[in-house]
Amino acid sequence: MKLVDFKEDEKFNQLREKIGNSGYGDFELFDPKRHLSWQERKGLIEGWSNISTVMLHAYSDHTLAYKNSHVFSQTDEHIHFSLCDKLKKRISQGRLPNIEITLNESLIKKKVVCEYCLHAVSYQGFDAYRRRHEEYNKHIIKQFSFEHYLLGKYPNR
Ligand SMILES: [Zn+2]
Repeated sequence: MKLVDFKEDEKFNQLREKIGNSGYGDFELFDPKRHLSWQERKGLIEGWSNISTVMLHAYSDHTLAYKNSHVFSQTDEHIHFSLCDKLKKRISQGRLPNIEITLNESLIKKKVVCEYCLHAVSYQGFDAYRRRHEEYNKHIIKQFSFEHYLLGKYPNR
């Protein structure tokens, strides 16, 4: 039996063109170790979730991630959006076995952004280790807005 190749089906391709889709797409099987479940995502959108810090990782742009989603985390008064030096240090010293993470932007807006996170993503040339940049750094921290940052990063949120 000869299987039909839908990629060569004229009607299928016309339909694809009509909806402006140039590729064929692919799918990935759900893996609970690597993908957020619907419930987990809902929990993160609604509030804070407590997770083990060994589950955190960073995307290639250094932003903080849990499974297949970027996330924000909080320690004391700071909000982290990167796997920054401060988090790495605390985790490696065993001082941060668990952490609160969220996707809820209204929960993070009022808190102060972590300067080591700004450093990790080189936000506007931010350098947390060069003290002669102190005035400039203070200014950046003061005017930093998660809303603005995220809009530039994920315009289709
Ligand atoms: Zn940080």
